[in-house]
Amino acid sequence: MIDKICIIGIGLIGGSLARALRDAGYVREIIGYGRSVGNLQQAVELGVIDRAEVSLPDAVRGADMIVLAVPVGNMAEILSTLGPALPDDAVVTDVGSVKGSVITAARAALSSRFAHFVPGHPLAGTEQSGVAASLPDLFQRRRVILTPEPDTDADAQARVRAMWEAAGAEVATLTATDHDRILAVSSHLPHMLAYCLVDMVVRHDDHRAILENSAGSFSDATRVAASDPVMWRDICLANRDALLEALRQYHTDLGALVKAIEKGDGKWLCETFTRAKHARDGLNKKQ
Ligand code: NAP
Repeated sequence: MIDKICIIGIGLIGGSLARALRDAGYVREIIGYGRSVGNLQQAVELGVIDRAEVSLPDAVRGADMIVLAVPVGNMAEILSTLGPALPDDAVVTDVGSVKGSVITAARAALSSRFAHFVPGHPLAGTEQSGVAASLPDLFQRRRVILTPEPDTDADAQARVRAMWEAAGAEVATLTATDHDRILAVSSHLPHMLAYCLVDMVVRHDDHRAILENSAGSFSDATRVAASDPVMWRDICLANRDALLEALRQYHTDLGALVKAIEKGDGKWLCETFTRAKHARDGLNKKQ
């Protein structure tokens, strides 16, 4: 049970965590801290948070759990203000989609209190942003990855795990390096492909006709291109090396596809598509 949680960034993820913990009866008081007063007011009106604060030291005072739910590019700035204001015994965690860069920023900002920082990433979300899009069941049966460092405090890790389990999630652990390498392929690459595909189409001479005649495949493949551009700019820059490796691999594979079509190599095409179809069918069965 959490006595007082402070969620920094009451958007889709921060707001959904607040709703889930309240529904579970796992928290006594929820304090929200954010950037725009309008968004915080809306969070209070929607009953997502009990109280909003516009000063970070005031927001975290007396909190036993602090959750950073701002875009990855804003984590360092928030952590540096948080460091001197951190209450004794408070556990800090984050929800950022990239772990290496957040850990580096947390280590620099929190120094001796770094052991009480538990890096995390819920594998749940939508292409929507903001508190109005938050959902109490967003994390139900979804995976949350924690990426503790060798010096992460075991009790802090257990408290963050228990919080996510109360929100309905299943918790797994990975190293930050493995997390960033794997998510570059499983999440960041598909977002890049969706953004590129939509942008290619809107710049096409026939873009109106293409969009008017687009089928379910275009919609399925590009849903995530409606995601927040600032959030995804930050993820690209923070996970640069792993994302570049994934993009280069994809580029090579796309080159092989182009060659097979140029050569009329139906055998290569059918083998590749069959391998992918079997893998995708397997995924459908698991979901
Ligand atoms: P979001 O809906 O846009 O919410 C972000 C919140 O952070 C907003 O309320 C924003 O306040 C606040 N914020 C931004 N900069 C701030 C600053 N400097 N100081 C204080 N508050 C600030 O975004 P989200 O989708 O919840 O994403 C939040 C985090 O979750 C990101 O790190 C992202 O990588 C991670 N994540 C996202 C997903 C997903 O599918 N969306 C999934 C897993 C993890 P304003 O409204 O006032 O601008």
